[in-house]
Amino acid sequence: MTPQLIDPFARAITYLRVSVTDRCDFRCVYCMAENMTFLPKKDLLTLEELDRMCSTFVGLGVEKLRITGGEPLVRKGIMTFFQSMTRHLDSGALKELTLTTNGSQLARFADDLYAAGVRRVNVSLDTLDDEKFARVTRWGRLPQVMKGIDAAQRAGLRIKINAVALKGFNEDELFTLTEWCASRDMDLTWIEVMPMGDLGNEDRVGQYWSLKDVRAQLAQNYTLTDLAERTGGPARYVQLNETGQKVGFITPLSHNFCESCNRVRMTCTGELYMCLGQEDMADLRPALRNYPKDDKPLVEAIHNAIGLKPKGHDFDYSRQRADGQVSRHMSHTGG
Ligand code: SAM
Ligand code: SF4
Repeated sequence: MTPQLIDPFARAITYLRVSVTDRCDFRCVYCMAENMTFLPKKDLLTLEELDRMCSTFVGLGVEKLRITGGEPLVRKGIMTFFQSMTRHLDSGALKELTLTTNGSQLARFADDLYAAGVRRVNVSLDTLDDEKFARVTRWGRLPQVMKGIDAAQRAGLRIKINAVALKGFNEDELFTLTEWCASRDMDLTWIEVMPMGDLGNEDRVGQYWSLKDVRAQLAQNYTLTDLAERTGGPARYVQLNETGQKVGFITPLSHNFCESCNRVRMTCTGELYMCLGQEDMADLRPALRNYPKDDKPLVEAIHNAIGLKPKGHDFDYSRQRADGQVSRHMSHTGG
């Protein structure tokens, strides 16, 4: 058995995204229902199990860990987990420890995150308007997130803003958001909305706004230079010559990144999804829980799972529900 994780298409798996909770203090309309039923706490991996799981992946060549959720910073004791991952940064095995957050708890945790070795954070923010922010997140308040962003920058964390492109919602903020990010030296990435969760029920905020159109509109005010940068994921980047800032476009529904895919995702219950667009997963929890003192079964289960990684995803093909939605919530798999 090779120590590194190489999938059947010779892609090295070096990037693990881990959802540490399915819970959240927001209820974004494209992500969750307002009255979500969350998993029983006993089903969640404990912090110790998360440590063991992530450490095993690091031992198998994972160099980048992104912690997500739900909202990772609402998980009780999560700083202990971040602090425990510092040892892998110190040893050089892990090159980057990072997270995706809604920003609501950053004011509390920014300094601790920096001390644990985190250097970059993705903050999700779709609008700079208080009222619209409250509408799209249902439970969120913009000033709290702004305080979090301030605290994170003060702590020395580099921030990338992720905005979901929503037609008729933040279309009119394309330039304000771009300029605001430039003024604060933050990169900005637009995410194409995916038909997941409960999008399109009572809150008609989110209509599909194609990133091709976002890009075309940007090109009216700025000169865009395509960047060769590839992260192995669904993001493409351009540089705005006038501001020097980087703008990304994440189109998860497209197939154009599958050949370089270097990542897998783990849910907060220890299920490993080999591909964002497919329902196939491997449950790693039995190997973890049934063998508390022996890592061999877990290593074997991970290797077997990686052996099942598909060549590309089939968002628009067979395995979805009849209405074309992927039934899983992003908060479960960790967007
Ligand atoms: N709570 C954290 C946050 O909001 O950043 C981390 C988890 S959240 C599921 C991760 C990312 O997924 C966020 O940037 C969010 O905007 C995005 N997301 C959630 N539902 C989505 C959807 N239906 N389509 C596209 N992006 C979505
Ligand atoms: Fe929570 Fe993030 Fe989903 Fe919004 S997108 S409901 S902040 S998990």
